Amino acid sequence: MARIHLKNIAHSYEDKPRAEADFALREMDHVWQDGGAYALLGPSGCGKTTLLNVISGLIQPSRGQVFFDDQDVTNLSTQQRNIAQVFQFPVIYDTMTVFDNLAFPLRNRGFDSESVRQRVHEIAETLELTADLNRRALGLSADAKQKISLGRGLVRSDVAAILFDEPLTVIDPHLKWQLRRKLKEIHERFKLTLIYVTHDQNEALTLADQVVVMHEGQLLQAGTPQDLFETPQHTFVGYFIGSPGMNFMPCALEGDAAIVEGQRIPLGQATLAKASGIGGALEIGIRPQFLRLSAQREESGVPVTIAAVEDLGNYKIVTTRLGERSLKVKLPEDEAVPSEHGYLRFPREWTRLYADSQLVG
Ligand code: ADP
Ligand code: MG
Repeated sequence: MARIHLKNIAHSYEDKPRAEADFALREMDHVWQDGGAYALLGPSGCGKTTLLNVISGLIQPSRGQVFFDDQDVTNLSTQQRNIAQVFQFPVIYDTMTVFDNLAFPLRNRGFDSESVRQRVHEIAETLELTADLNRRALGLSADAKQKISLGRGLVRSDVAAILFDEPLTVIDPHLKWQLRRKLKEIHERFKLTLIYVTHDQNEALTLADQVVVMHEGQLLQAGTPQDLFETPQHTFVGYFIGSPGMNFMPCALEGDAAIVEGQRIPLGQATLAKASGIGGALEIGIRPQFLRLSAQREESGVPVTIAAVEDLGNYKIVTTRLGERSLKVKLPEDEAVPSEHGYLRFPREWTRLYADSQLVG
């Protein structure tokens, strides 16, 4: 296993990139700790596969260097980097048996037949492929084939890292859940450095200790699921993580409050301390869970109208309007919702201020 350092990496698929937008990966510097379980999360097209391929060596970055521990591996092949990579769609040998497919990466590295046998059985057991070991891969379902692909990625415990590129896309939902749990188990057992690409926040949040959020070729934030939920460093992270995402509203600052649609929303001391002299486009952000909705005006409540109520089983989403702005409130299912007009309170400790999309405090 290795600690992976992407040192001032940038990548463009164009020969002569001119503008920022020509880069699939904008300049970044990031360290993936040895033995960490990471999810790389972001919408389609943001550069996740490109980044994974830079780590594995399938792509040579236009700029910067890749280090595994203290070794500069920028010019080394995937094979030389000793990486296992699992792709979105199964990569297996149809004419070989499941056993031989799983054994392939080990035999390739010269493992003796007893270690091969042992390891293949162990992985087959974990992925519930034991009964199929002597079958040819050819006739198997897409699910089973992808399990073999996962198995081929996991079978060697001597790799520098295992990279997964949305490996559960073709997998049936109930099996997905089970495989995710298995991957987590395997990670805990073997302490592999694991980087798991997904565009699905639930997958990212359940699988990884650290989630790295990407957007338009940039790494916006790396943190625990709790960090990303409570303190998004960028408005995109607030919007992308959580269901529904964080509410944002343009604001101005006046004294100890943010002014939104002519209403005062008091900010916390810590936020105010960081906000002094700040410029740029200001917004406040608050998660739907943290807003307080009541029928009567309480201290510092802001008047809103109720636009819609969605009942989603064990909670409700209420859409409220504050002037031109729309805010979602997430409430427990048994909480009463005012019928037309209500008051929203913004707890100061959960009301964040952003300038040009970056967290101020
Ligand atoms: P993701 O995996 O997050 O969906 P990708 O890394 O595949 O994103 O793509 C990032 C950007 O790079 C996209 O704009 C995509 O169109 C572009 N891109 C990806 N692969 C190539 C390629 N081989 N040649 C040119 N452009 C590419
Ligand atoms: Mg991709």
